Amino acid sequence: MAEREPAGEEEISDRKEPLLVSACLLGLVTRYDGGDERRGTVVALGERYHLIPVCPEQLGGLPTPRPGAEIIAGDGDDVFAGRARVETADAVDVTSAYVRGAAESVKLAGILDARQAVLKARSPSCGCHEIYDGSFRGVCRPGRGVTAAALARAGVRSWDEDDVAEGRFGR
Ligand code: SF4
Repeated sequence: MAEREPAGEEEISDRKEPLLVSACLLGLVTRYDGGDERRGTVVALGERYHLIPVCPEQLGGLPTPRPGAEIIAGDGDDVFAGRARVETADAVDVTSAYVRGAAESVKLAGILDARQAVLKARSPSCGCHEIYDGSFRGVCRPGRGVTAAALARAGVRSWDEDDVAEGRFGR
């Protein structure tokens, strides 16, 4: 059998750009309630991008399923500034796991040289335009989640699944 040739310049230039994607959007059962958030429009990005599934809350060491949580008194940027925290509905502080998952996600983006991400809307980790407001009543406020904030600080630009479905992704 012929030995495989090492990758030449042409093969390297044909490689798809890496794209970090919230794992739940690809159909992985990573949601806090043990479900997924699969979106066909996001999965279809695999035709143009090398999709890298990431679930920051799992990377932060949390189990699945796990108690839902929201950011209290701010957004992801406020968490890093020490002005806000992440809590479950029972007031258990899970901030450190969320921050750890954000750091691991940034590390993964760096290892694979991903400059863009498509993240799950409104999640306390992944939301990149708005998040739940900490009242646990399904109310949203402007702001981004802990991982979305960390990725932005690392120079990774993020969109959500609505941006993909409505044609804003990549613009
Ligand atoms: S942390 Fe992000 S990837 Fe993981 S389940 Fe929540 S929204 Fe999906």
